[in-house]
Amino acid sequence: MTASPQKPIPFIDLNAQQQRIRDQIETRIKTVLDHGKYIMGPEVREVEEKLAAYVGVKHCITCASGTDALLMALMAYNVGPGDAIITTPFTFISTAEVISLLGARPIFVDIDPVTFNIDPAKIRAVLDNEIVTSSKVRGIIPVDLFGQPADYEEINAIAREYDLFVLEDAAQSFGAEYRGKKCGALTEVAATSFFPAKPLGCYGDGGAVFTDSDALADRLRSIRVHGKGSDKYDNVRIGINGRFDTLQAAVILAKLEIFDEEIQLRQKVARRYGDLLKGLLETPTVKPDRTSVWAQYSVLSSQRDNLMTHLKEHGVPTAIYYPKPLHLQTAYQYLGYGAGDFPVSESIAQRIFSLPMHPYLQPEVQEFIKEKVKGKREKGKGKG
Ligand SMILES: *Cc1c(COP(=O)(O)O)cnc(C)c1O
Repeated sequence: MTASPQKPIPFIDLNAQQQRIRDQIETRIKTVLDHGKYIMGPEVREVEEKLAAYVGVKHCITCASGTDALLMALMAYNVGPGDAIITTPFTFISTAEVISLLGARPIFVDIDPVTFNIDPAKIRAVLDNEIVTSSKVRGIIPVDLFGQPADYEEINAIAREYDLFVLEDAAQSFGAEYRGKKCGALTEVAATSFFPAKPLGCYGDGGAVFTDSDALADRLRSIRVHGKGSDKYDNVRIGINGRFDTLQAAVILAKLEIFDEEIQLRQKVARRYGDLLKGLLETPTVKPDRTSVWAQYSVLSSQRDNLMTHLKEHGVPTAIYYPKPLHLQTAYQYLGYGAGDFPVSESIAQRIFSLPMHPYLQPEVQEFIKEKVKGKREKGKGKG
């Protein structure tokens, strides 16, 4: 058996990353302290240019969080009361929350059992069943869960057919690719998050919207600053205070330098897990025409809760994303959904959990985690 690792195993190791680029981060932050332009300083423009080029779209509009990015995108389409938006119930609350905040109605559609992303065939089924809602369906928000892009070819085709917009929730997938294109460039508009634990994270809250559309970009820049017109005291629409801090832009600029290398490292860690855990757990599958940035490494086990307790006893942290699908949340009781409405999401929610995942996870630690998973299986043998 592998010896216990010397240090506690972190679920995500932001310290290892910081140690690598601490000097660059300090230099970037010092520049901001020297020029003092804390709101919409030059780093914000610089990071927007670099991120737009990275993704391969014309416009990047940074903002205060991934949630604001989703909200601003829906506001740019004038989503409001009487509208409905299709999305997945197996996601973080933000994805659906922004729909409700604007007075529109989320329509949930179940997921694919292999990728955990929204199932395009089920989107079509809902759109063909018009009695489902008296609201007007305006758009679709697919989520690239755990870093793997959703089925954009199929989803975009459905959207064209039914005249809907598609807003990619790329909060977990920034840096991933689908058929040679980067997440953020797969739909008319996309939103991402720079929350510290995301693949590209700052040291606080942050996010960005991506689009090729000049008209959407103009509306987004206005919505970001209280619906400003020619200046911030000319208000042409209702907006929000949604700006990205200059200091956070400075942090992203330093981290962007090593981001591609970190993605490679994440993919290496995921491959190693795949090899080590084969036959012990149901490991994740990435479709051949896309890549994942592994925001989470999520596995399935029918003995999930026992296994998580066992791992915890041996110092291996785990987490459940997500224990309760959104249609079963108290906040969404008003939509009238119930248990059994989205059986794939419900079944996955009972079996899924995530293992430590970050670019600096060492092979010995992964080996240790495997030994603990295996030990539990052997102990549990014969007990069903
Ligand atoms: C993190 C996350 C968000 C929200 O991002 P914040 O920056 O925390 O507001 C939205 N959608 C998904 C799928 C996420 O994982």
